[in-house]
This record gives sequence, C-alpha cells and structure tokens, in this order.
Amino acid sequence: MASPMASCLICSRTTSRKYCEYHHKSYDKLASEYVTWKRALGEMSWEDYLRKLLELQETGSSIKDVIAKELGIP
Ligand SMILES: [Zn+2]
Repeated sequence: MASPMASCLICSRTTSRKYCEYHHKSYDKLASEYVTWKRALGEMSWEDYLRKLLELQETGSSIKDVIAKELGIP
C-alpha cells in the first residue's frame, strides 16, 4: 500500500513525511548539529538552539525556513 501523500509544510512539494526531501535534509542537518552544539556548549533546549541559529548569518535560508516552521514563526 502506498503511503499517503501530502504537501511539505514549507513548500508545495509532495511528500509522505512532514517535510519534502529538500527540507527534510535541512531538518536532518539541524538535528545532528544540535547534538554537536550540546556536546560543545552544554545542555540547551531544542528551541533555544533554533533561536540561536536563526541569529547566525551563516545559517542557510532553507534551514531558516525549517527553523521558523519548528518555532511556529509565520
Ligand atoms: Zn519543502
């Protein structure tokens, strides 16, 4: 049975997950960087981490799209 298709929460690409292939890749990157950050800087919440990344110039725009969606920023 095929998995139900829906639209990515950020763009209009179809996906069977929360995000399309493209945005899912950014989400994966965020999640693995989170582990690295916590190892280097100590315990921090997922939301604090996302807010810090949003302020960084070097954070890519597709990653910022995912962060805004995760934080519920329109
Ligand atoms: Zn997408």
